[in-house]
Amino acid sequence: METTKTTNLKATLEQILDTEKLKYCFDCGICTASCSMAELLGKDYNPRRLLERIVLDPDSVLSSEELWLCAWCYRCYKRCPQALKVPEIFLLMRTISAKRGNFQASEKAFKIIVEKVPLPFITTLVCFHPERAGLDRKKVMEKIEELSREDSKRRKKRKAARASGEKVAVVGSGPAGLTVASELSRRGFHATVFESLPEPGGMLRKCIPENRLPRQVLDKEIQLVEDVGVEIRTGVVVGKDLSFEDLSKDGFHAIFIGTGAHKSQKLKMEGVDLKGVVHALGFLWSVHSDNKVEVGKNIVVIGGGNVAVDAARTALNLGAKDVTILYRRSRDEMPANPWEVKEAEEAGVKIEFLVAPVRILGEGTVSAIECVRTQLGEPDETGRRKAVPIEGSAFKREADMVILAIGEAPDLEFLPKEIELNEDGSLWVNPVTMETSMQGIFAGGDAVTGPASVIEAICAGKQAAESIVSYLKSREG
Ligand SMILES: Cc1cc2nc3c(=O)[nH]c(=O)nc-3n(C[C@H](O)[C@H](O)[C@H](O)COP(=O)(O)OP(=O)(O)OC[C@H]3O[C@@H](n4cnc5c(N)ncnc54)[C@H](O)[C@@H]3O)c2cc1C
Repeated sequence: METTKTTNLKATLEQILDTEKLKYCFDCGICTASCSMAELLGKDYNPRRLLERIVLDPDSVLSSEELWLCAWCYRCYKRCPQALKVPEIFLLMRTISAKRGNFQASEKAFKIIVEKVPLPFITTLVCFHPERAGLDRKKVMEKIEELSREDSKRRKKRKAARASGEKVAVVGSGPAGLTVASELSRRGFHATVFESLPEPGGMLRKCIPENRLPRQVLDKEIQLVEDVGVEIRTGVVVGKDLSFEDLSKDGFHAIFIGTGAHKSQKLKMEGVDLKGVVHALGFLWSVHSDNKVEVGKNIVVIGGGNVAVDAARTALNLGAKDVTILYRRSRDEMPANPWEVKEAEEAGVKIEFLVAPVRILGEGTVSAIECVRTQLGEPDETGRRKAVPIEGSAFKREADMVILAIGEAPDLEFLPKEIELNEDGSLWVNPVTMETSMQGIFAGGDAVTGPASVIEAICAGKQAAESIVSYLKSREG
């Protein structure tokens, strides 16, 4: 028999969620098939099953650890035939769960994260976001710390992996590279990470805002990676300071490429070379490198992704008076996470939708930007509706700084020419083995997918580590 609480919850959900739509989920499962966490955790996490239970028995979901294991990569939403924002549905349930004081469910999830998800401190902060459901971030991190101590005691008790003489070179110290290196090191292989920048961490250090990922948490996680035996050499640009041939001569038996997507897309528009026009990644990198960055008073950010939102918030924090994001489509098409957009607006960032830049104006230095209003037309080749300029709608807006955040791509010119790239310039890999077109060279993360998320890079790293182990064992045997 249903309890009153269950009936109330069902009734509340009927009002908030389109439960009729959710019933189609019973026969689908694309969310689970595309989910990074399902890939990483196997039977421990199944979003399709969770959606089904939200319709049939929502109370049982409130006490389920699975509810807290969505890592917000939005792959499910991108592939869902009904375009359901599954992570948002889970957030709603998480919030109800937390309000009802159901903390055991989240704590069970944290245990799974510490035991099975590489880089648990980082992923808790930048992927799982328990604080969005009202949990206290400080207490959550203390719990992760406690669980991590218990986990490391358990690991020490287990028989240490037999040390192998095989050496693996990992190019890039972002989440993909760090995952490959730590997984291999735990399995007894020698992993050396080569990083071009002075400090390891990739985008985690270079661009993710400090309030989302405090650098002392990043440093601590990297220390844990070094503690399992990984060697990190910074300030080494592979392809310039060290060639692939050098790596082979130095006795590395396999190579992993995890060099990310750091090349800012160029905007072909009059005025992009004016002083005061900057690329978002360069801007964020300068801010996080402790360079004194001066921002203007009136800032315009062009773009609609998470990078645009992070750049806008950072500019506001640095003292800009007015920060406006211009996005050529509507709010519904905006690629940035909806909660990032909401938080940015609450912090004071303005967003103008259906506006496209035409040219940047100024004499030597930017002083204004000319734009047109747009309307949504037919879907383009990506399936998103085109932004069509409205005739006679041109207008000018003053700006003393323009931040371009129109996308990033992998920069793979340093690779040997024999390694095949995809048409869009990303790195081709066999999707099962993560091996490139050159034997013994594997790759993963943003270099392969284009800009994605930390959890996707970690997943790729874990998958590649498995393949590298098989490859090295096949060489031995
Ligand atoms: C502003 C911003 C905010 C973001 N916020 C989030 C977020 O909140 N949550 C989330 O999940 N994701 C977020 N992301 C995305 C996430 O950071 C990336 O998807 C992830 O870091 C990709 O990991 P990776 O290991 O593939 O590459 P990266 O993290 O980019 O690391 C690649 C590393 O390789 C190094 N390298 C490159 N070429 C060479 C070479 N030739 N030799 C040696 N080293 C080299 C680079 O210096 C870099 O350190 C954000 C991205 C940006 C830009």
